[in-house]
Amino acid sequence: METLVLKVDKSPQGEKALDKAAEIIKDGGLVAFPTETVYGLGGDAKNPRSSKRIYKAKGRPSDNPLIVHIANMSQLEEIVEEVPEVARILADNFWPGPLTMILKKNKVVPKQTTGGLDTVAIRMPSDEIARELIIRSDCMIAAPSANVSGKPSPTLASHVYKDLSGKIDAVLDGGAAIIGLESTIIDLTSDIPTILRPGAITKNMLEQVIGRVDIDPSILEKKEADKPKAPGMRYKHYAPKAELTIVEGNSSKVVAYINSQVRENDNKGINTGIIATSENANKYIGGNVKEVGSAADEEGIAHNLYNILREFDDTDVSVIYSESFDGDGIRAAVMNRLLKAAGYKVVSADRVAIKRIIFVGKNGSSRSPMAASIFESLDEDKDYEVLARGLLVQFPEPLNPKTEAVLAGNGIEIEEFSATQLSDDDINSSTIIFAMEETLRSKVLEGYEKANEDNTFTLSSYVGGELEIPNPYGGDLQLYGLCYEVLKDTLTKLIDLLKQER
Ligand code: AMP
Ligand code: MG
Repeated sequence: METLVLKVDKSPQGEKALDKAAEIIKDGGLVAFPTETVYGLGGDAKNPRSSKRIYKAKGRPSDNPLIVHIANMSQLEEIVEEVPEVARILADNFWPGPLTMILKKNKVVPKQTTGGLDTVAIRMPSDEIARELIIRSDCMIAAPSANVSGKPSPTLASHVYKDLSGKIDAVLDGGAAIIGLESTIIDLTSDIPTILRPGAITKNMLEQVIGRVDIDPSILEKKEADKPKAPGMRYKHYAPKAELTIVEGNSSKVVAYINSQVRENDNKGINTGIIATSENANKYIGGNVKEVGSAADEEGIAHNLYNILREFDDTDVSVIYSESFDGDGIRAAVMNRLLKAAGYKVVSADRVAIKRIIFVGKNGSSRSPMAASIFESLDEDKDYEVLARGLLVQFPEPLNPKTEAVLAGNGIEIEEFSATQLSDDDINSSTIIFAMEETLRSKVLEGYEKANEDNTFTLSSYVGGELEIPNPYGGDLQLYGLCYEVLKDTLTKLIDLLKQER
């Protein structure tokens, strides 16, 4: 089948295109058309064969119901058992617009259109082209999003063409879908109206006109629900080809985390995609950065998201990191789609994987090198880079002789050591600093720009120990031996803790 691309605008050709598309629908064919949410793949809602064709073209499981698009209230009356008062109030306030209502259906709607359900999803779109198509075809138009099942919904006619050319009769090209995310779905068959899919009509907006509205728990969860209410909620959705991960946390940490991933991936020859807010876009050191919009402009982000996910499909990135868009209103809708696209894969940048450990002592020639070398001897998998540093290193002193002796007695040799002053250059986003004493920790926090409460700790208190690491400086060999034992015990606990936190 050849798929016609029909441009629609106010010209006589545009008029003809609409008439042609209406003809196709009336005859049981399929036309993709723009709406204010995303492009829909339309067929005559009352014709079971049209609905079957929609499922086939999309490769959509047939238990995932379609939304019926209408142009006036009498069409609503025609297909439902009754129109409850809440539905009238919602229609008065939000129709035409991006709100879909679930109501009890009557016999006029075939089960093929509702995925076998006794309920039907109905929306009156505001987009002029969509409305004209419904009116001119003299049909109600059943339409899911016009993408291949599982891919991001189309926001441009070119997206539709890429997914469905050869499988449908025509695409009406009316430019970019303004909102860019699918409609809000509200179930009016439950006791309390319940949002099944968040969208541009937010919970708050709904509650202002009909009172209490619930949100289906599966939407709020950060993982996939076992038994979602709407059949369509079960499927992995909106997914780009590359593996997508959402990075949560404080903005500067998110950037630092993604940058560390980019660096690592570069070394492995893997290309990384990044979905960034405009505020952060130029903070990334590499990777293929796509700007989704200003963090303050949630509507802009919603508008751009799917296009960006699809653009990555045309690049050679194999992993994508996205900043997180947690929040209320439209942000909730964006986050819901992003979570599904990521298969619920979310990491927290506030808990960055630690790669470098710095032990900090006073002179940097006794306790800190002792700690570093014991740690290395205990860390079998060599997971960390370990440094020993001092806070008062006047000159590159050699290893303290008693430290050397105690270590040697325990089978640990240190080669070519000289004490080194801690420097801000030692500290990066994946560094954790352990000071030998509380007073040293305070000095690190005061004296180093890159040290903070999140990356600088007193060694013994970090592992829950009550005693500080004894300072053997100037003491006898026995005291150095005691220091060794305390460190070994403390560091064994530390390694366990760090492994758990990974
Ligand atoms: P789409 O616009 O492509 O995401 O598809 C329409 C979506 O509307 C489906 O995936 C369902 O989640 C939802 N839906 C449609 N009809 C019903 C219904 N009767 N009950 C619950 N959800 C529905
Ligand atoms: Mg869809």
